[in-house]
Amino acid sequence: MTSFRLLAFDEISRREIIEPQLTDKKVSEYFGIDVFDERQMRQYLPREVRRAVVDAIDDGRRIDRKVADQVALGMKTWAMERGATHYTHWFQPLNDSTAEKHDAFFEPVSGGGSFETFRGELLVQQEPDASAFPNGGLRNTFEARGYSAWDPSSPAFIVDKTLCIPSIFVAYTGEALDFKTPLLKSLAALDKAAVEVGQLFDREITKVVATLGWEQEYFLVDEALFRARPDLAQCGRTLMGHTAAKDQQLDDHYWGAIPHRVMNFMKEFEEQAYRLGIPLKTRHNEVAPSQFECAPMFEEANIAVDHNTLLMTVMRKTASRHKLRVLFHEKPYMGVNGSGKHCNWSLATNTGVNLLAPGKTPKTNIQFLTFFVCTLKAAAEHGSLMMASIATETNSHRLGGHEAPPSILSVFTGTTMDAALDFIERRVSHKKMSPDEKTEIKLDIGKIPEILLDNTDRNRTSPFAFTGNRFEFRATGSSSNCALPLIVINTAVAEALYDFKAEVDALIEKDVKKDEAILQVIRRYIAASKNIRFEGNGYSCEWAEEAARRGLRSVNNVPQAFREYLRPESVALFERFGVLTRTELTARYEIKNETFIKKAQIESRIIGDLATNHIIPTAIAYQNILIENIRGIKEVFPDEFESLAGEEMKTIHEMVEHVQFIRENTHNMIEARKKWNAVESLSERAMGYETEVRPYITAIREHIDKLELIVDDRLWPLPKYRELMSIA
Ligand code: ADP
Ligand code: MG
Repeated sequence: MTSFRLLAFDEISRREIIEPQLTDKKVSEYFGIDVFDERQMRQYLPREVRRAVVDAIDDGRRIDRKVADQVALGMKTWAMERGATHYTHWFQPLNDSTAEKHDAFFEPVSGGGSFETFRGELLVQQEPDASAFPNGGLRNTFEARGYSAWDPSSPAFIVDKTLCIPSIFVAYTGEALDFKTPLLKSLAALDKAAVEVGQLFDREITKVVATLGWEQEYFLVDEALFRARPDLAQCGRTLMGHTAAKDQQLDDHYWGAIPHRVMNFMKEFEEQAYRLGIPLKTRHNEVAPSQFECAPMFEEANIAVDHNTLLMTVMRKTASRHKLRVLFHEKPYMGVNGSGKHCNWSLATNTGVNLLAPGKTPKTNIQFLTFFVCTLKAAAEHGSLMMASIATETNSHRLGGHEAPPSILSVFTGTTMDAALDFIERRVSHKKMSPDEKTEIKLDIGKIPEILLDNTDRNRTSPFAFTGNRFEFRATGSSSNCALPLIVINTAVAEALYDFKAEVDALIEKDVKKDEAILQVIRRYIAASKNIRFEGNGYSCEWAEEAARRGLRSVNNVPQAFREYLRPESVALFERFGVLTRTELTARYEIKNETFIKKAQIESRIIGDLATNHIIPTAIAYQNILIENIRGIKEVFPDEFESLAGEEMKTIHEMVEHVQFIRENTHNMIEARKKWNAVESLSERAMGYETEVRPYITAIREHIDKLELIVDDRLWPLPKYRELMSIA
């Protein structure tokens, strides 16, 4: 019988290069052509309707039914002119994907005939039968109603002849069942807090948005090889596979020439992205073989999140046309780098200022410092919650490893900022400062940007690094929805800003001059966040010890990280800003634990099945070949038997030991699953899976990988690492 591995190679050898389907137009000629953006609104909506939509976006004002009807009409006309036949609310439920249920514009008329329709009420709100989406106990299935509601701040777009309307998704009782709802609430809280603080410096500041520029890492694998690996196909990562003799040790993949086939894929998905208004800017090879990255120009955070989730879908679809699979899993292959999704985060004002970029004058620099130290304070107060926000089963293979997310949150500010913060902490005093002193301090602060500009120091071991004009949260996993970390960062920074403003106001009330009050609170915040500043190697043991001395919380495994969500400090933070209620947090906590358990359970089952049905039979088949050979040697060379067959007999012994280990531990792993499946509490069960089930997966794998090195290559049923990771 031919194995799937060999069939896969056969398929690949007969395959022709798939050329990309591309337009020869310039990007600027078709960028955003499939989006109902402001340009389209001007063409398809009356002026007052457009204004109502803009007001709704800017001030969160409600859109009334009449306006909604007109928007629906405009959207329908535009979409149908572009060939659309269906519409859908497009939302992000609490799993790894986006959800859509298409309805046709077409409506038959009784007595014959038909027409196309799309009313305002359908634009504004829909009731998907949502009983199958994760809800963490918020909805009983018999009362499964949830509804999706239009988010006018993210423009509708067309994919596959379907008009997609970005939406939030909430239970009938009002609790959020998605990522977008709390994200929008956190953005509103941040806006309000940042405007109040911003107005200390500039009365013109009336709106502050968080900006997000994500960097998406991913692996590509040939579709035929992917299908021949049940572990990859079902878990998104390999559960076995010996390290290839050559992988990333020569550093010859990073920024190397992009293979032709990959290039075809990239060009095609980029074109799709541009049509959808996703402003992709960079593409390159990443560190590991067959690993790549793309990144757009940053955008307003809500839109950037939608664009990221949308792009992931576009990439999956395009890959399949090129007979490739995109792996967004954080760690598809053991032993080589995993994939993250760096979230570059900053704050932008309606006046066109990046609040986290040093300014040109002492005044704007103090404004920059204010927002900078508030971000530090937020990270110091809620660092462990930030780490929790990136904790998932799939990211756990990076969590705490010698890769992007160490288990402790620290902030890297760079030597210039580090020195500047120390300076301010030393120089600004509680006591009243003389005018000369103040001027001197301000002048010194004014010098920060000059030094910072030619300061290219980067620290790749820091989970939250300041990179000159933004913070980069490097711990986020490649498959995650970026909304998760953003919800935490936005809310925590909103809290720091509110408190900052309150402390400044209190000082002003005590007759301290405004500028001095600001400097004093900046100083307090520098002192309060000193603990999480760390400029050294975030992966080193010394840092772990140092962090423990500093009393920083460390998050060492995923179920433990989830508990951060329910700490009183976290609940208070989210409730204070109306971002998530305790009920919603509890539901999310349940969902997180449940998802973790399910994923660990699937992996455990698959490695068990593969071990029993693929690996052990293969090992036995090879043993039999060896036994046949030994028997032959004995027959032909009876006198030299010992010396000629000794090694082969040793090999058989070795194999038998591996097979026994695999058998025994597969059995024990199943018993451990049974034990923990019987435990009612999801959080306890998740912890049980973490400590007692998952270790078997690693242990069994080790022995399978040893067998891979022994068994005849022609018999081995699964594509090997070197094969999976080479894309030609
Ligand atoms: P690197 O790999 O060195 O981190 P990249 O150029 O790959 O840098 O990515 C930088 C990312 O940072 C881009 O997505 C970019 O849009 C984003 N970025 C730049 N400025 C800002 C900002 N003010 N706010 C948010 N993101 C930003
Ligand atoms: Mg980066």
